Amino acid sequence: MLKLKYSRYNHLVKIPDEEAFVLVNFRTGALIRLSPLQKAVFDQATELPAAAKAIKRLRQGGFLVDYDELRHMRTQMLTAGGSGRALGLTICPTLACNFRCPYCFEQARSGRMSQEVQDSIVAFAQTNMEKFALNRLTVTWFGGEPLLCPDIIESLSARLMEVCQKLGAGYEAGIFTNGWFLTEENLALLERRKVNTIQLTLDGASPETNDHLRREAGGGSSFTRIMENIKKMRPYAGTSAPNVVMRYNMNRENAPYFGELAAKIDAVARETGVNITAYPAKMDSSMENPQHIRESALSIDEYGDLASPRSVKNVRNPVNFRRLYCKAQYIHGYAIDEVGDMYKCLELVGRKEYVMGNVRNFSLFKEPGEGIENMDRFFETIFPEEDKECMSCKAFPLCLGGCPRKRVAGERGCMSLKSDLDGYTLARYRKIGSKSYNG
Ligand code: SF4
Ligand code: SF4
Repeated sequence: MLKLKYSRYNHLVKIPDEEAFVLVNFRTGALIRLSPLQKAVFDQATELPAAAKAIKRLRQGGFLVDYDELRHMRTQMLTAGGSGRALGLTICPTLACNFRCPYCFEQARSGRMSQEVQDSIVAFAQTNMEKFALNRLTVTWFGGEPLLCPDIIESLSARLMEVCQKLGAGYEAGIFTNGWFLTEENLALLERRKVNTIQLTLDGASPETNDHLRREAGGGSSFTRIMENIKKMRPYAGTSAPNVVMRYNMNRENAPYFGELAAKIDAVARETGVNITAYPAKMDSSMENPQHIRESALSIDEYGDLASPRSVKNVRNPVNFRRLYCKAQYIHGYAIDEVGDMYKCLELVGRKEYVMGNVRNFSLFKEPGEGIENMDRFFETIFPEEDKECMSCKAFPLCLGGCPRKRVAGERGCMSLKSDLDGYTLARYRKIGSKSYNG
């Protein structure tokens, strides 16, 4: 007889002020509302005949299983790391930056990407897309500040778009920019070169609360200028409007102002039609940061309390099991700096100790060169089997063991939801009802 057991990722919460419960499965995303009678059936479910209608539905939702879920996730996650048909390139035309943010751990240096490195990137994209039959190229412009080199974005984009056209492949792009150089001319360039996702950062809700954290080298008010620049996106609101995301690096000092900034951003979105939303990210508290930044870092629980109402609001449904944490774990994902050095994670750009090769001669087919273990270490993070806490954590299907860069550095990047699974479940229920149960 088939032996069913409860999924390790079921989570049951009593709905406040109602005689009912929400049952969610974090692996499948299935979510149902249970009356007290249905809960009583659920409590007995492993004793009931597998052919019963209610049991079949619970199996379809993944609430009851007859297999090892962790083992199955491992198969899916490892497969995801090596499959997929897109080439993801994060390209840094320069590591120079006109900002001096006190928490930034990027390795700023002067210099621009040479023509030779640009040629190598085009050749690398073409060779890899052909050899692996990839049908899409996704480019992320990163730095330093990439808009210090708009000419490189223009010409390299044009060449990469041409490669895609020749191969019949899709092309899309995004940019991480501090926003200072979002002039009308550069916005037109981004639109022309299919840069349809723009990530900006503000860390306060006014010049007084933002500018000491987002510090422009020349002393200008980054808050004032960036808010003005966002309004310049108005001509692009419409069918080709970019998705603009405003990141807010939150610590104890600036946490009280996030709501105010989010309201200002929402007002600009309404007024201009620009597709922009603000979200809070936990400000990094690594040892490389100055002491005052480390001291104002939020703990994971504090961050969870402050951030989760908004992050839950932004959750798209259903929350079906993701298979990779980020593109650093994907075989065809690379970050390339201005001298052609390659990394798995964009946050490590410029750090010699994490270089895995150079785009001039890197190939997955050749005998590994110096630094290749930096690639291997990232693949080992895909399914962190040796981490007992992750293996027994109910949030694992949502979190997948956290940021691979942190794991490679010997840390664990727990997601804030871990500390409030009840709140997360109820917020999802209120947002989407029980419709995500496909059973
Ligand atoms: S490894 Fe971490 S820091 Fe790097 S891209 Fe992935 S999530 Fe971001
Ligand atoms: S990193 Fe933390 S939240 Fe994520 S699965 Fe591991 S223990 Fe859970």
